[in-house]
Amino acid sequence: MKMSKLFVQTLREFPSDAEVISHKMLARAGYIRKLTSGVYNYLPLMWRVLKKIENIVRDEMDKAGAQELLMPFVQPKELWIESGRWEAYGKELMRLKDRHNREMCLGPTHEEIITAIARDVLKSYKQLPTNLYQIQSKFRDEVRPRFGLLRGREFIMKDAYSFGTSQEELEAEYENMAQAYRNIFNRCGLDTKMVQSDSGAIGGNVSHEFMVITTTDAGENDVFYCDDCDYAANSNHAVSNLPAATVDGKEYFNETKVIDTPNTHSINELSQFLNIPSTLILKSLVYIIDKKPVLALIRADKAVEETKLLNAVGGIEIRIATSGEIEEIMKENGFDAIPGFIGPKGMNLTVIADNTVKEMKNFVVGINKNDAHMVGANLKDLGLEEIKYADIRLVEAGELCPQCGKPLKVTRGIEVGNIFQLGTKYSKPMNAVYLDADGKAKPYIMGCYGIGISRTAAAAVEAHHDEHGIKWPLSIAPYHVVIVPVSTKDEIQMTTAVKIYEELIKNGVEAVLDDRDERAGVKFKDADLIGFPYRITVGKTISEGNVEFVNRQTGDKTAITPEDAVKRVIDAVKNIK
Ligand code: ATP
Ligand code: MG
Repeated sequence: MKMSKLFVQTLREFPSDAEVISHKMLARAGYIRKLTSGVYNYLPLMWRVLKKIENIVRDEMDKAGAQELLMPFVQPKELWIESGRWEAYGKELMRLKDRHNREMCLGPTHEEIITAIARDVLKSYKQLPTNLYQIQSKFRDEVRPRFGLLRGREFIMKDAYSFGTSQEELEAEYENMAQAYRNIFNRCGLDTKMVQSDSGAIGGNVSHEFMVITTTDAGENDVFYCDDCDYAANSNHAVSNLPAATVDGKEYFNETKVIDTPNTHSINELSQFLNIPSTLILKSLVYIIDKKPVLALIRADKAVEETKLLNAVGGIEIRIATSGEIEEIMKENGFDAIPGFIGPKGMNLTVIADNTVKEMKNFVVGINKNDAHMVGANLKDLGLEEIKYADIRLVEAGELCPQCGKPLKVTRGIEVGNIFQLGTKYSKPMNAVYLDADGKAKPYIMGCYGIGISRTAAAAVEAHHDEHGIKWPLSIAPYHVVIVPVSTKDEIQMTTAVKIYEELIKNGVEAVLDDRDERAGVKFKDADLIGFPYRITVGKTISEGNVEFVNRQTGDKTAITPEDAVKRVIDAVKNIK
């Protein structure tokens, strides 16, 4: 490919709406163009990267015994009714109607469709286990599309679904897929951590995510992990043991009573005013879950993890209530107080208490009265015998590993893939069954396995860049090498560059010849921004028989002969796994 013909327009500036590196660089280097919120054009350079990732994914999925198919992007409502997700999926599901007023949706994922295919075809245990996958555009009307390809509304995903006859078979396939994922991300030049996670809207029991660890804001997940053992979990699923803390207030309060606590609107102010650790305060928080208020109780030095709370209630959408809503709710329950003094006593609401609350004795709690709290309180004083307990606590770094007891650490991560053990979550309601050896009809035991192809490309940029641009791993770079004649008007430089270029092409290398009549500095800048893994510069030193060979990953620059430069690139490309 000649640079003069390459369909690319690099920009001088980063686009103003880009917040993270991958979005900034992919837009500026001419890989993507935004069409509308969360929807991007993949321009030729991007498409080459995406195809390379897809092909690595295909290769490993095929090797792992899965078979590729392609399902429609538009799906009928009926199958979603069967699975129960037409209601449950919420606003991310993009719904539409055809001219006959039939309701449809744009596929955000394909469990319903694949399960319907399976029940038509996989009728006997002899056909199981089997694993089917596709690579396709998905559409999710995300609340906050952002970060370019990292969280789009339309994005490319590989989704695979396995069908088997037993939990053992599922577990074996799950491990098989985990290994395929490790191979895929390794080949894409990405370091990933496999972490335990929440199963979310897809449901099921066990699930893991593959995270690219990052220190930047692009990582939307907090991952808690242990250096001493293999424990690693998404914050929405992480658990920990707590270091010892004062949870019985008997040394502070010898009776249960209501006392004045003027101006103690926050936990901090209250613990200072009473001169007690915050571990002795019961914190009450109001959330709105599927439009209904829920009161969450937790030890005040800890925070609520919203996904855990949502799961404990079995809801779909969650948000924290506004001050206005909290006051309204207190009014409805006959109280007139400001939010800082809220408490569970006398509130007719769904109450979920974190497990930390179980151990608390003689604590301090709000009683829906301004400038007052109950101290030396116990659950029986609050009319709370019947509360539901759950783990709704957000883990913090420094708390203790649930496996080995060492302090946990935290880092940010980008989820590039995940694997779920679904069990019969879809096969049962959709009556997707096979005939077993004993002649009985049984629902398939299913698994599902996703990889965000476009998100993986963006994550690779997050992981591999410097201030000048992208540093693609060779395996997924749009082109392997750029050959830059410093002066296209210099005949020797130009003929040498063309010779190198032709030799590389002949040997299967994806090369770009920068034949533009531009200053060398401009060409180097573009080469760095676009992120060619290798650059061969043909300049004045060609008179001594040398070109400059630049490795974008390491920044190494060496003077070598054109023949050596060609050989180096050919060898490196041969070694791509
Ligand atoms: P997230 O928690 O980031 O929203 P998810 O749990 O909804 O992800 P899945 O439904 O399991 O994701 O989809 C499988 C894969 O598809 C994810 O691991 C991710 O790599 C990718 N993916 C999901 N949502 C998006 C999106 N909005 N934009 C780009 N890729 C996405
Ligand atoms: Mg999601």
